[in-house]
Amino acid sequence: MSDTKQFGFTTTILHNDRRKSIEHGSLHKPVHTSVTFGYSDARQLASVFQGKEPGFRYGRQGNPTVSALEDKISKMEDGVASICFATGMGAIGALFQALLKAGDHVVSSSFVFGNTNSLWNTVAGQGVDVSFVDATDVANVEQALTANTRLVFVETIANPRTQIADLARIGQLCRERGILYVVDNTMTTPYLFRPKTVGAGLVVNALTKSIGGHGIALGGALTDTGLFDWAAYPNIAPNFRRLASSAQGMAQVRAKALRDFGASLGPEAAHHIAVGAETLALRMERSCANALALATMLEQDERVAAVYYPGLASHPQHALASNLFRAAGSLFSFELREGIDCFDYLNRLNLGIPASNLGDTRTLVIPVAHTIFFEMGPERRASMGIAESLIRVSVGIEDTADLLDDFRSALNVA
Ligand SMILES: *Cc1c(COP(=O)(O)O)cnc(C)c1O
Repeated sequence: MSDTKQFGFTTTILHNDRRKSIEHGSLHKPVHTSVTFGYSDARQLASVFQGKEPGFRYGRQGNPTVSALEDKISKMEDGVASICFATGMGAIGALFQALLKAGDHVVSSSFVFGNTNSLWNTVAGQGVDVSFVDATDVANVEQALTANTRLVFVETIANPRTQIADLARIGQLCRERGILYVVDNTMTTPYLFRPKTVGAGLVVNALTKSIGGHGIALGGALTDTGLFDWAAYPNIAPNFRRLASSAQGMAQVRAKALRDFGASLGPEAAHHIAVGAETLALRMERSCANALALATMLEQDERVAAVYYPGLASHPQHALASNLFRAAGSLFSFELREGIDCFDYLNRLNLGIPASNLGDTRTLVIPVAHTIFFEMGPERRASMGIAESLIRVSVGIEDTADLLDDFRSALNVA
């Protein structure tokens, strides 16, 4: 098939594997379970090891099924290269393992996924200094920069309170200062938003969530957008300096994070994720429409105290979301009026399932302060704007009327 013609988002995902020939004309990239790859010529094995020719050697560093998924993610993000990891946290941890050294400084949004928040606290104990800032305003990021700041880390839409980082202005700031800008695109997915358009150098996707989309496989990815100048990055080891500057960053991540730490994505998981990704656009259309309908209904109900969803005009960054994102996402959170117990409410739901994943085809609900944000304690929760009664809803692709009925009926206290 043509390698130059530009196709739409879903067409590209569906047909990308076939751009390289697949054995037997298989339409799906096969699940290659072999851990190692043999060569009839030992010299060829050596030249693959030395990077003189492409090829696979051992499954921890690369696998054909995983590699096909990496290509697909690069296409989705309009990036130049991607590396998959066993989980989303594996991908974020790789930033620390491969790109940071003791004495370096990181500026992170304070509104990040709970485990990312925990990860930055862990690395703070290992010599990397992390400043948490309210990244909805670029001024806070700028103030926190030091001479040692190596990267700025933000999410697009924060989970669970849906704050949106000042994405474009932070991109501009990082470009001016030559700082690596890392955007976790999990909540928007490359279908709603491409961080490359605001200057991100690296993009994180937790494939576990909407890209895989069915809650059956864990996975994560880092994508190099090609915008960052790795030649100017101080922490590239001499053996990677020998490569073209555009390849230095990802080569070092593959070796230092994937090979040395070993959080590699398995081929079966890569297959599940690749199949799930085929319907990403269709699922996002439905789940975002469902989220908007539910959030709108709840906001109008007097038994609901607050609803946080960027698709609502009441959201502080509603205009920003409308400008940048194709839709406002499939996740929102809300607080019930005093006197309605959040646990009792959740127990009255028939369709919303109490569970901690998000980006699933099924609607999942969770009392945030008592579960995913329990460990950080009430003070840090308050600083993140997380009320003790906050309910997070990851909206699935159920029929809209069924969801509206379920969430409305559960408001009726017996
Ligand atoms: C879930 C999530 C992660 C981590 O992904 P895992 O696959 O669960 O490790 C990272 N960032 C965001 C925004 C997430 O929602």
